[in-house]
Amino acid sequence: MKDKFWLIIISIALVIVYVVDYKLDKANSTEEDLIKTIKNRGYIVVGVKTDTRPFGYIENGKNVGFDVDIARYIAKDILHDPTKVKFVQVTPSNRLYLLNVEKVDIVIATMTITPERRSIIAFSKPYFVAGQAVLVPVGSKVKTLGDLDDKNVGVLYGSTAEKNIRMILPSVNVLGYKTYHDAYSALKAGRIAAITSDDTILRSYALTDSSVKLLPKRYTRELYAIGVRKDVESRSLLKIININISNMVNDGTLTSLKRKWKLN
Ligand code: GLU
Repeated sequence: MKDKFWLIIISIALVIVYVVDYKLDKANSTEEDLIKTIKNRGYIVVGVKTDTRPFGYIENGKNVGFDVDIARYIAKDILHDPTKVKFVQVTPSNRLYLLNVEKVDIVIATMTITPERRSIIAFSKPYFVAGQAVLVPVGSKVKTLGDLDDKNVGVLYGSTAEKNIRMILPSVNVLGYKTYHDAYSALKAGRIAAITSDDTILRSYALTDSSVKLLPKRYTRELYAIGVRKDVESRSLLKIININISNMVNDGTLTSLKRKWKLN
């Protein structure tokens, strides 16, 4: 009887040790590590813009741009081949969702670090600084954001500019668009008096279309960073990404990419 009792106790203890050990093992397991998953898969899945010159857009059927080049730099480091990237189109309104439902490994998409976003995803170090600006037709009387009172203003759904303008100027009639293409078409058709978003993004329209101009004032400081999931599996990837950003600063890549994409 006594033997049986001890046998049961020892069996229970063994099961507990096994379960704890298994859990610890699982937590430390490289199998769960996203870098390992990416290496086994043979490519990294990156959420990028497809309508945002010069950061992420399509040219001759290919993803190109400043953010796309950053993705290739990271792929070169992790997979030793800058072409081992699968690009997935993201917009300001779906990029956090697509990251968290694991449709993409990371997001490199003109995304500003904000406290609200930081509560949902993790951010790398910043790799670029932009500022909120206003794009208007050349003949417009609008000189500053304040002149947009009671007017229709276009924003990208889910962008920092949408939140800012709603806060700063509650009387503005804010119209949300999913893509820059849609917002720009609305401006050209006279349905909105202005578009407000990052200067670096809006400038590309002013550079190619002499009928629109960028107002000189900047209303915010937008620190762009790479979005990574907050889960344990993504931790080592975040570390690698931060090392890559430091390397891009130190080896001059970031400076030459800014020059390449005329972002200076
Ligand atoms: N940087 C801004 C943001 O994160 C611009 C939006 C965009 O990506 O187009 O909201």
